[in-house]
Amino acid sequence: MDKQCSKCGTTKTITEFNKHAQGKAGYAAQCRDCAKLLQAKWRRENPERMAELKRRWSENNPEKKAEYMRAWRERNPEAAQKNLEATKKFSKKVALESKATATNQGKRWTAEEDAILLAADSSLLEISKQLGRTYATCGMRRSVLRERLARLEIIAATQSRLSSANAGT
Ligand SMILES: [Zn+2]
Repeated sequence: MDKQCSKCGTTKTITEFNKHAQGKAGYAAQCRDCAKLLQAKWRRENPERMAELKRRWSENNPEKKAEYMRAWRERNPEAAQKNLEATKKFSKKVALESKATATNQGKRWTAEEDAILLAADSSLLEISKQLGRTYATCGMRRSVLRERLARLEIIAATQSRLSSANAGT
């Protein structure tokens, strides 16, 4: 079976198209080559969304992430060593810097602070300086908030599934 790509107009065999549940006859409208280009374009144009997707994937697949990192270190031992040293240096610097600026340490977290912590585009170091708290406490607070958000998303998804199931009967 052949199919014409809606993007480049080329007629190709059906195996050159990705399967797509919502597409015509179960296939995507664009050929694989065009789909790849579109995907690459989207990734280039949405670096924050990509970073967020990556982060979520890592959080949801800790074993796979660890395995991926292990394999990467094996393939790139020198780069891995450099990364490790850079991380050590960075943490030392961060620890000193944030101790010096952490004037709000020990105070209750405000809703504004939580919102700042959850903003995807700011670095944790900048945030810790801005909030006058240590880098480590900001990191811990942020993971607590993210866990809480993820839990709320699951609840919301379950509720909408339940309400649509009820609407169907
Ligand atoms: Zn195409």
